Amino acid sequence: MFGRSLYAVFAVVAVTATGCGGGQDAYASIVDKAKTEKKLVIGVKADQPGLGLRTPDGSFTGFDVEVATYVAKQLGVEPSGITFKETVTANREAFIEQGQVDMVVATYSITDARKQKVSFAGPYFVAGQALLVRADDAALTGPEALNGKKLCSVAGSTPAQKVKTEYAKEVQLQEERTYSACVDRVLGGQLDALTTDNVILAGYAAQHAGKLKVVGEPFSTEKYGIGMKKDDTNGRKAVNDALEKMFADGSWTKALQASVGSSGFTVSQAPQLERY
Ligand code: GLU
Repeated sequence: MFGRSLYAVFAVVAVTATGCGGGQDAYASIVDKAKTEKKLVIGVKADQPGLGLRTPDGSFTGFDVEVATYVAKQLGVEPSGITFKETVTANREAFIEQGQVDMVVATYSITDARKQKVSFAGPYFVAGQALLVRADDAALTGPEALNGKKLCSVAGSTPAQKVKTEYAKEVQLQEERTYSACVDRVLGGQLDALTTDNVILAGYAAQHAGKLKVVGEPFSTEKYGIGMKKDDTNGRKAVNDALEKMFADGSWTKALQASVGSSGFTVSQAPQLERY
């Protein structure tokens, strides 16, 4: 028992030291890893209903999971060859850079700052920042009513950043590690609202129907991309090709409808890819 835990300690140290935690470090591109090993490690969220959610049996469901599964298949990897790994907002760049995941499909907005560290295929979805409040809160109707409110968001997210730069004077921002932690604090009455992308909030409002509601017109543009190593040009092209196919053959609309349609979120058209 002691020997085994000691080995685990050494294994963790070795993984940290080499930065090789099951990703594609031995390959120039995720395309090569997919082709050779027929396996991929994909980072997804685990607590966002409709998008990336771990179910009690340990599997993952949601629109991001559907997109990831479709893309992997186009790269030659069957669902049985995919290992889904939980990522939270703040560790996505690091997980890609360290090779802990081959790609990230996790409500991951394409931004110039993130492009310094990783690269993105997509966008495959466009969301916008909104607010989630308690259903009986009649006063908090949108960002203009945030004055003096206690707002929750997630560390490292674009919505938290926007609050810090644009609403810092009016609100008290509490940053959590995950959105579900924010949901608990709004439900419990410690905080007044959660802000992040409308499609994420719609999932929580549906999960807690009658207790939570989404308010405010979207006040940002969040283009969801599939993140991978910064220099993986082949990977980006292949993933964009896969997305193009998913948009064209109806699978994209079907997956979106099945995943987030039931939350009352209006399903939109597939966005224009921004290849670079
Ligand atoms: N799309 C935003 C972001 O990438 C918010 C959602 C999230 O934190 O995953 O930061």
